[in-house]
Amino acid sequence: MPGAKQTELSTIVLNENAVIRVEDVHKYYELGETRVHALRGVSVEIQRGEFVAIMGASGSGKSTFMNMLGCLDRPSSGRYLLEGIDVSEHDKRALAKIRNQKIGFVFQGFNLLARTTALENTELPTLYTKIEKAERQKRAVEALTLVGLADRMEHFPSQMSGGQQQRVAVARALVNRPSILLADEPTGNLDSRTSVEIMEVFQNLNDKGLTIVLVTHEHDVAQFARRVLVFRDGKIRKDDAVLNRPRAADVLQTLPTLED
Ligand code: ADP
Ligand code: MG
Repeated sequence: MPGAKQTELSTIVLNENAVIRVEDVHKYYELGETRVHALRGVSVEIQRGEFVAIMGASGSGKSTFMNMLGCLDRPSSGRYLLEGIDVSEHDKRALAKIRNQKIGFVFQGFNLLARTTALENTELPTLYTKIEKAERQKRAVEALTLVGLADRMEHFPSQMSGGQQQRVAVARALVNRPSILLADEPTGNLDSRTSVEIMEVFQNLNDKGLTIVLVTHEHDVAQFARRVLVFRDGKIRKDDAVLNRPRAADVLQTLPTLED
């Protein structure tokens, strides 16, 4: 953890590789008479190309932290710099723009549109950009190919397994070429083999240089990341590199395949 002196220095010489820089962030929720202190002084830096898993008991502040990283919410105090931009200073409208350009989200539920193909679902976030139609489709095809669904583009969600639907959600998160991919319990609705398949996709994307931050309550899932942060009571209590991290592709070889 950076000391006071180091923090002072780094505001002058910002580490160019830091995609995320969080400085002593507190977050309060006002609930009628009571005030919930969800984040209690969180400081952390995440470099480009990292793959970070966030663990911690329910209520420890993981989602609050992710929502802040994803510019869905602002800190009550402290600073959050995303690629050097001080997000804490921007209003809702500006946050929405930053979010659309820089962040890809994946959630536990896949949130795909039912009557819409994999390709169209993936293309959706490009509709809010100035990208031209032909380029949009090209990017969607690229994103689906990256997650291993090149042969499923015209399928509807009901024609795909849970794992395939989650991969469409990952493709959709990537289509605007974000700086970071944020995933809150992306394997929460999946069986264990399918969870490893999704982690294989994440490891492949990370190998290509994508920065990933993932929340999970499963230790086995966290081990596929390069670094694990553990939250407790609104603070980061542990910050460890993963040693001997398994390759999801290797683990899959040892797991029985389910029949389609
Ligand atoms: P986690 O994702 O680790 O389960 P959360 O970040 O969702 O934890 O929640 C941290 C704390 O903040 C909890 O005490 C939770 O009840 C509270 N909290 C989260 N979101 C809200 C909200 N929108 N309004 C009020 N309290 C909230
Ligand atoms: Mg949560």
